[in-house]
Amino acid sequence: MFDFRSDTVTMPTQAMRQAMASAEVGDDVYGDDPTVNELQDFAADMFGFDSALFVCSGTQANLLALMAHCERGDEYICGQQAHNYMFEGGGAAVLGSIQPQPLTNQADGSILLSDIEQAIKPKDIHFAQTRLLSLENTIGGKVLPQEYLANAQQLAFNHNLKIHLDGARVANAAVAQGTSIANITQYFDSVSICLSKGLCAPVGSILLGDERLINKATRWRKMLGGGMRQAGVLAAAGKLALTEQVDRLAEDHANARLLASLLAEMDEFNVEPVQTNMVYCDYLGEAQGNKPLKQLAAELAKQGFVFSVAKKLRLVTHKDISEQGVRQFVDALKQALC
Ligand SMILES: *Cc1c(COP(=O)(O)O)cnc(C)c1O
Repeated sequence: MFDFRSDTVTMPTQAMRQAMASAEVGDDVYGDDPTVNELQDFAADMFGFDSALFVCSGTQANLLALMAHCERGDEYICGQQAHNYMFEGGGAAVLGSIQPQPLTNQADGSILLSDIEQAIKPKDIHFAQTRLLSLENTIGGKVLPQEYLANAQQLAFNHNLKIHLDGARVANAAVAQGTSIANITQYFDSVSICLSKGLCAPVGSILLGDERLINKATRWRKMLGGGMRQAGVLAAAGKLALTEQVDRLAEDHANARLLASLLAEMDEFNVEPVQTNMVYCDYLGEAQGNKPLKQLAAELAKQGFVFSVAKKLRLVTHKDISEQGVRQFVDALKQALC
């Protein structure tokens, strides 16, 4: 089976399963789990932060960051397409009493700095207090330019805002640019990173920040029910995600480019340029008298090729889809279309 829905479907590697089986553990709520502590120290060092916190999901990492930066009645600026605005259940508003101020994402995923500047509220009792700028990299598979990040950091600093990165796939952004992750995270006060997407760990994300922020986040994590006990079983796989899976992402990107180029040869698809591990395209087949996308997806699913059907097709490459898998998928697609 080849599952193109997301890189979240990746299975842990054999090395991860072995490390999990033999991990030294303790009660992490007491701070006693040596494997969790090792992962947190390693991550803080690798990404250039004082402190790191191992949490159960990217959603929780983002929520903890928002709640640690902002108080009740504060506001964070983010993109209309931001995961922590669109796809996290409104957690910041529901659980943090923090108001989002979403702004238009440009075609390249960025938010215009002039839009951000205009949206920052003056000190006035009518307004929520703008505290935080939250960016996402990659966003929709797109990499934000380093110069943009530097300018965004400067803008945040000038207006006394903190700046957070939803870096669920920041490792993809780093590999695509041939740079280190730390070179991207240097512009931010806090960063969340998913270990369980392209990096293949079964569970877990990392939140990075200074000691004060991580202490606050650790308190909120406990309140949200996210204090885990012998979590070293998970952290053991998480460490291997950082040491063994980052460079490998280049293969996912190459496979995404291959998939895009093969689809671009077909009249039925209009393919967007690929930057990382996501291929976006429009299906034109139905308008050309071919079968509807839903039917196509159902037929391919029977052959073991799974993808989600939305307005645009999004196909995600990852460890468990080989170059061979990409070619087989495109062959099956061609067969189903004729
Ligand atoms: C997946 C994702 C998250 C949330 O991660 P979960 O572990 O699924 O909660 C946050 N931000 C972005 C950009 C993501 O892609």
